[in-house]
Amino acid sequence: MKRFPCVLVLAAWLIGLSGCTTVPETGRRQLMLVSPADEMKTGLTEFEKIKKDTPVSRDPALNARIQSIGRRIAAAVGREMPNAQWEFVVFDEPKTVNAFALPGGKVGIYTGLIQLSSSDAEIAIVIGHEIAHVTSRHGAERMSQGIAAAVLGAAVAVGTENSKNRDYWRAAYGVGATLGTLAYSRSHESEADAIGMRFAAYAGYDPRAAVSFWKKMDQQSGGGTGFKWFSTHPPSRERIVELERLAPKYLPIFEANRGRFE
Ligand SMILES: [Zn+2]
Repeated sequence: MKRFPCVLVLAAWLIGLSGCTTVPETGRRQLMLVSPADEMKTGLTEFEKIKKDTPVSRDPALNARIQSIGRRIAAAVGREMPNAQWEFVVFDEPKTVNAFALPGGKVGIYTGLIQLSSSDAEIAIVIGHEIAHVTSRHGAERMSQGIAAAVLGAAVAVGTENSKNRDYWRAAYGVGATLGTLAYSRSHESEADAIGMRFAAYAGYDPRAAVSFWKKMDQQSGGGTGFKWFSTHPPSRERIVELERLAPKYLPIFEANRGRFE
């Protein structure tokens, strides 16, 4: 995706926005038709709606644990999300294996996913990965691709006001119900894996937890209900090999930061 067809640039021009940005970690160019301000506004609104629609856990110990992990990750993300209004919410759905982060610093994690994790480090890896999708603006990029497609189809209906667009927005940010099977591309997943590992390591969590977590996910895939996570984040051997290769790169960051929290 280094170069975009002229027709997409035309689509960007039609909407009156500049068309491209670059992901700092990898230098990859991305089609971008959504402004950070719009992205954040919708993120904050959608999170409130999700909290109304989904049971929130009242388990004090579990909440304290997730808040503690969340605070450390938020500090590690720091200036990469300068306007974040951080909030970490545990959704009480034991059969839902899922987690997401929205622009604006809103993070949801389901008890089904927490039960599958074996350590705080694994949860930190998941949260870091989701926040990395936001800092890399992957949801906005997917939304932009959808807008470009809509422009090309002469069905310009940009915005999140009507329910169809809202469903699309949710799917683009990995919280979809109706269009929940919109998988992140391999390049998005690789970026989020690497950046998420860096966030976790700066927060004092062992980056090797990514390897153990995804190995477990790979074993679990193919069975179980409510595993929304797999539709947006497909586990694979290829991914585990890449994580095993990446983890040593982030170990020194972990070693330098773990002392701050022990
Ligand atoms: Zn992902």
